[in-house]
Amino acid sequence: MFFRGFVAATVLAVLCGSAALAAEPLFKVLAFYSTDVEGDHVKTANDAIDFYRDLAAKNNFVFDLTTDWNKLDDNALKPYKLILWLNDFPKTSQQRTAFEHYMEHGGGWIGFHVAGYNDKDTHWPWFVDFLGGAVFYANNWPPLPAKLTVDEPSSPVTKGLPVSFISPANEWYLWKPSPRLSKDVRVLVTLDPSNYPIGVKDVIPGGDLPVVWMNTKYRMIYVNMGHGKDGEKIYSDPIQNKLFANAILWLGMRK
Ligand code: ZN
Repeated sequence: MFFRGFVAATVLAVLCGSAALAAEPLFKVLAFYSTDVEGDHVKTANDAIDFYRDLAAKNNFVFDLTTDWNKLDDNALKPYKLILWLNDFPKTSQQRTAFEHYMEHGGGWIGFHVAGYNDKDTHWPWFVDFLGGAVFYANNWPPLPAKLTVDEPSSPVTKGLPVSFISPANEWYLWKPSPRLSKDVRVLVTLDPSNYPIGVKDVIPGGDLPVVWMNTKYRMIYVNMGHGKDGEKIYSDPIQNKLFANAILWLGMRK
């Protein structure tokens, strides 16, 4: 009896030890989203949630979710290496201040689509600087697929991508000024000029349109994709999905 009990206890200890090891997550991500915004933005945020939840399970990181933007708070953000804004942004000065503090102290961020939107009514100069000076200027309508060009194939974020690919339908944003003008910005992916003019109801006739970029002063990546249409989902393309996966894994693992 003693022997069997000892063996059982030893086996249990070994199992618990390995389970604890496997369960230790590599990093933690908190995704913010909203359910009371434009319908297509909510739909794509939900697609993103499915995609990242699956990626987290396969890559051993924690993927937490919230619709409570008041979690942009010093204490609430502490456990997280990285936060995502899936198609929305903070509205109060407390939330904005906590975000600034988080980013100024090494936090990580990926913002999708309207997360980067700002115009003359936004009144948040810190955020414009954070984006590399980018201010929303124009968009195409309806969402359309587009040929994209990879500017920096050697970046960990674009690793494994072809030099150009066709992205599923998206509402593309043109920025004025373009973030490419900032010395701190590295543009990773750009809308290929062969797409112009792009749009039907709203047409972008031309211009420099960075789609994915980093402001190297921070651990941040802005990604314009996030407004798909029915039947052609943003998270349906394996090439583009690789970009999304690379971005979160690189920022999550980066020291
Ligand atoms: Zn949109």
